[in-house]
Amino acid sequence: MMTTNMPANEMIMANQSENTRHIAGKRATVFGMARAGLACALLYRRHGADVFVTDRQPADILQQATNILEQENITFETGGHTERSLHKCDVIILSPGVRLDLPLLREARTRGIPLISEIEAAWVLSAVPVVAVTGSNGKTTTTTWLGEIYQAAGVVSDVAGNIGRPYADAVLRNPAAGRHILEISSFQLETIETFAPHAAVILNISQDHLDRHGTPECYAQTKLRLFAKQRAADVAIINHDDDYLRSASLPGAGQPAAFSLAGPVGAGVWFDGRVLRYRLTTGEGELLPAEEIGIPGRHNLANAAAAACVALVDGVSPDAVCRGLREFRGVEHRLEFVTEVDGVRYINDSKGTNPDSVRVALEAIRTPLVLIMGGLDKGTDYSVLFDLVKDNVRRLICTGKAAELIARQLGGSTGIMIVRDFTEAVEAARKAAQPGDTVLLSPGCASFDRFKNYEERGRVFKDIVRAFNRKTS
Ligand code: ADP
Repeated sequence: MMTTNMPANEMIMANQSENTRHIAGKRATVFGMARAGLACALLYRRHGADVFVTDRQPADILQQATNILEQENITFETGGHTERSLHKCDVIILSPGVRLDLPLLREARTRGIPLISEIEAAWVLSAVPVVAVTGSNGKTTTTTWLGEIYQAAGVVSDVAGNIGRPYADAVLRNPAAGRHILEISSFQLETIETFAPHAAVILNISQDHLDRHGTPECYAQTKLRLFAKQRAADVAIINHDDDYLRSASLPGAGQPAAFSLAGPVGAGVWFDGRVLRYRLTTGEGELLPAEEIGIPGRHNLANAAAAACVALVDGVSPDAVCRGLREFRGVEHRLEFVTEVDGVRYINDSKGTNPDSVRVALEAIRTPLVLIMGGLDKGTDYSVLFDLVKDNVRRLICTGKAAELIARQLGGSTGIMIVRDFTEAVEAARKAAQPGDTVLLSPGCASFDRFKNYEERGRVFKDIVRAFNRKTS
């Protein structure tokens, strides 16, 4: 198990100066002008590349990006990819979302031009050690939590990746950070080649996602790519309670470690029924009792164990880990406490967009519940929630397009109301709740029937609920 950060730093530094030498004066074409592509363009420009950016969207939609490119003297084309993008090109950088089967990219391949993804492009120019998080569920929570832990440890770090801010942007703006803490999606893992996070964790591989991604084995193998290029000084962490991960053979040369809520692991962090404990070659001990963790739910205890494991193997002190675990208040729209009105607590779990997320929310809250579900159905089976709803939910309010479907599948579990309008649904929840109850918005559905995204739905919910408070006082 590694205890010092120096070897990783030195190795990456050596890599970087090599890569920087190679990129100066070379022609790099970036496909895609959204945030990640733009950040790559600026990063490669800073490293002396001759950058060209191409996007299929018309100029009027891309004006913000093109203004920045013009300021930086970076050439570009809009409204479609043309032959110009391959002219004298030495490397192509692909933004997330660019289709790999574009005819020009096929042509690039036949000409032998290397194609790399945004993550890879940022990685080869960075000297900052990376810790990385992937999995089916809990990525944003765990990645954000790690940011809090490194802050508690006094390490200057930058949280980025699949979390709203591109990794290339962190490399561009924070090239001297102590750590880059990255959330990595399966999609991003498909296109990495040499990316080697210093400590990396796979949180879980959910059956749901396995079903959705065609061949299950392929989806799981993509997640494991996170470890593939790790070196002996790196650490590969898995969830020991996940059947697939426990029995998988892990690629790469990283040291194995694990986290578990079920009992002790060889090296890593586990829950003994009362406290989180750790054992590494550097030492072992107690971290903190579960009730000191500021966000509810067994799934968040697992996320805490995962984050603690990453930070400890990366040399963060147990003290700082405990402080970070204690101080974290969660991420917006994920079991987010909003306010209490007339003895009723309101919780916004707008990110709960599938039945599995509703399940973990119902398991996390101990009071009787008034549950608001509904939105745009994704073809999922809500009846898996029947017993939990029956046991914990005083009243189920179904709203949005999927209202009837949910009401039908959970019919007979509890008192159910269909209230099409979202605002009226929240008001109906208020009327149904009794002091001591919790009103929980955990839709189990996408938001696009009525909102731009789940964030907007969560904000609207919070606005409605906070207005209750003003009316009361
Ligand atoms: P992601 O970034 O992977 O989508 P988030 O941290 O945003 O994950 O959490 C999204 C939802 O997933 C949460 O609202 C919760 O319902 C569920 N969730 C979070 N962590 C876990 C976990 N460890 N296991 C199962 N479900 C989880």
